[in-house]
Amino acid sequence: MDNLSDEIVDKAARLIAKSKYCTALTGAGISTESGIPDFRGPQGLWSRVDPKVATHSYFIDNPKDFWSFHLKFMEFRNVKPNDAHIALSKLEKLSVLKYVITQNIDGLHQQAGLKNVIELHGNLKTASCIYCGRKYSYEEVLEIIGREGLPPRCPVCRGILKPDVVLFEEPLPYDAIATAYYESSRSDLMLVLGTSLAVYPAASLPETVKSHGGKLIIINLESTQKDYLGDIVIHGKLGIIVPMIVRRVEEYIR
Ligand code: NAD
Repeated sequence: MDNLSDEIVDKAARLIAKSKYCTALTGAGISTESGIPDFRGPQGLWSRVDPKVATHSYFIDNPKDFWSFHLKFMEFRNVKPNDAHIALSKLEKLSVLKYVITQNIDGLHQQAGLKNVIELHGNLKTASCIYCGRKYSYEEVLEIIGREGLPPRCPVCRGILKPDVVLFEEPLPYDAIATAYYESSRSDLMLVLGTSLAVYPAASLPETVKSHGGKLIIINLESTQKDYLGDIVIHGKLGIIVPMIVRRVEEYIR
């Protein structure tokens, strides 16, 4: 249930304005208003598709079917950042927001102008050969698919190409997760935005913030698995709430 009020917006803005090291953890929910479905929200993909399509073993066993599913995600490369992405970018320009740690693979934070983004689950920009490791841009992958069909294979060694996103059953890139834990440990405030906090290790980052004495503002359409940790918890749409809060922060730091 939506609990948005001027009072809670003000409380969140004051906390952000007086923070010394504010970071954000974002999930698929921040991009739904750009038109990309999330996994576990009310219109989430997992209500229509079996989550096994995003596992590494499914990719290895059924590369053609895996790529048919993945191509649908690649179409989302043409969508645009929404008001929540843009407001976060403004918060970075104000030197309030230091880092965004995202579980998203859509690149919308960077498109909105954010500079300090840690991508925990990779991105849609490239795919790599599982045999020789050569990397191809998605434009090149689409060309290969147009020429030879699915699954795309490396033109050099004929190995199958895998998108450079982290699938279920795969480890996270070491640098990304190590930096994410470091940035969380030094955050006196983390904004937790549009994530069900069901996917680990990302879901443990808010606990890292709390265990180092930091605070959490959790904003999500529905309850998350970690609402009990939130110093402020707001249920509602990010595209409305984040810009409201950032406008208020601007007033406080002016
Ligand atoms: P999730 O699907 O588990 O949770 C998303 C949460 O966002 C839900 O609780 C939902 O209620 C909430 N939400 C949806 N729309 C919202 C809105 N407009 N305002 C506020 N909240 C909203 O997503 P997750 O926690 O990020 O974990 C799922 C995994 O899915 C991640 O690993 C991510 O890599 C991947 N994923 C990424 C994208 C993307 O890149 N855009 C899209 C789908 C899934």
